[in-house]
Amino acid sequence: MTAQSIIQTAFIIAALLFILALAGLSKHETARVGNWYGMAGMTIAGAATFFYAIDHSERGWVMTLVLLAVPLLIGSAIGLWLANKVEMTGMPQLIAMLHSFVGLAAVAVGIASYLDTDHNTVAHLIEVGVGVLIGAYTFTGSVVAFGKLSGKMSSRPLMLPQRNLINLAMLLAAIGCTVWFTLSPNIWALVIITVLGFALGWHMVASIGGGDMPVVVSMLNSYSGWAAAAAGFMLGNNLLIVTGALVGSSGAILSYIMCKAMNRSFISVILGGFGEGASGGGGEARDYGDHREVKADEVARMLMDASSIVITPGYGMAVAQAQYPVADLTRRLRDAGKDVRFGIHPVAGRLPGHMNVLLAEAKVPYDIVLEMDEINDDLEQTDVVLVIGANDTVNPAALDEPDSPIAGMPVIEVWKSRQVIVFKRSMNPGYAGVQNPLFFKENSAMLFGDAKAQVQEIIAAL
Ligand code: NDP
Repeated sequence: MTAQSIIQTAFIIAALLFILALAGLSKHETARVGNWYGMAGMTIAGAATFFYAIDHSERGWVMTLVLLAVPLLIGSAIGLWLANKVEMTGMPQLIAMLHSFVGLAAVAVGIASYLDTDHNTVAHLIEVGVGVLIGAYTFTGSVVAFGKLSGKMSSRPLMLPQRNLINLAMLLAAIGCTVWFTLSPNIWALVIITVLGFALGWHMVASIGGGDMPVVVSMLNSYSGWAAAAAGFMLGNNLLIVTGALVGSSGAILSYIMCKAMNRSFISVILGGFGEGASGGGGEARDYGDHREVKADEVARMLMDASSIVITPGYGMAVAQAQYPVADLTRRLRDAGKDVRFGIHPVAGRLPGHMNVLLAEAKVPYDIVLEMDEINDDLEQTDVVLVIGANDTVNPAALDEPDSPIAGMPVIEVWKSRQVIVFKRSMNPGYAGVQNPLFFKENSAMLFGDAKAQVQEIIAAL
């Protein structure tokens, strides 16, 4: 067996392990094993790439080893430091930032591979042009997503006049430049493609409203995969092509599922909110009347009198790190003979599956954690719903107010139960910036304060 065939075999094994990882990650029960497959695949891929580079190098193996090891060590040290430092609530923006690095790497690989080769074929030039465009788009799009998710930028959509026309003009110009670059390769065409990709990514993601951000995050995940696949074509690396295509297609499928869950048009979201007012405007401020407040001990009494209880967690549960006391409360109520279940909205929190991860971490049994569609029909027969740090995902305006920015998005219809308790710190709106009429309904009461502290007080009172 030659060194090359061993390396290619290792690439195939790594690709198979990545497929097994994706399959494992699709279910709670197998997610842990899926992660192990992914880590094993990545270790094999990394080692094989090392040998591949040394085998192909014209600089001698010592120099190649140094060139590979130094950035690898610096990158690993930064990665370890960041992963240790980041709070669970900071994960979404960290992931957006990591997507931006993939995009920037594709741009760098594209420009380097154009400058490095003196026999640029038409196929290679197309790979470079398209790869740089996708990479540049992914980079700035992910930087804007980072800004919106971390609260450094407003989650409101940027509504430039004629924004669809601006996008179309930039896209056509980028396609024109790619054709120009392919027919007469020159660095200026590549620079213009890069700048247009940067501008498109920035503008399209900035034009998308807070409520549609979940789709944008998974779309950028998908684009980062396509950018990696494009880098694979430019470098002639089969493993990068396969891995990029896996990430690209699974991200696209996830975006489609999220669009369906949110009743949004897939095409309009990826085109920066094209042709719709729903995710755009602000919705008028309305007077919904007064809200009512309760204290933790009153909630404890209500829970003791109830026989069926549903908990709908949201982003605030993640911020408060309240999943452990929530799991403890659930155990106690179930031990007291109550029927306790969870209702999870597909876009609750700031990451796909965010709430499921937190509840699994706190060892809440999987069989009482239900999807929105599974719980909605049962809410009319529910005595008490505890809304713990959720807001947009339980907002009746999505169904009742056609001019609302979140109009049309299915929500957990908690107000149909006998009594709703909303855990939050203030009357502030949720991520989409929309006031929530739920807080003012007759059967709703607000329990103000940090969700973790309030749940602990309820447990003490019980
Ligand atoms: P929201 O973001 O709408 O609301 C969270 C609520 O939690 C706020 O009203 C806040 O109110 C409250 N809160 C924050 N900290 C605490 C705390 N320490 N204790 C108690 N309450 C707290 O949450 P949802 O989960 O309902 O909705 C998710 C939103 O995020 C949707 O708009 C979704 O589209 C968007 N999104 C989702 C993504 C995903 O993939 N899941 C990705 C990107 C965006 P207060 O400040 O008054 O306490």
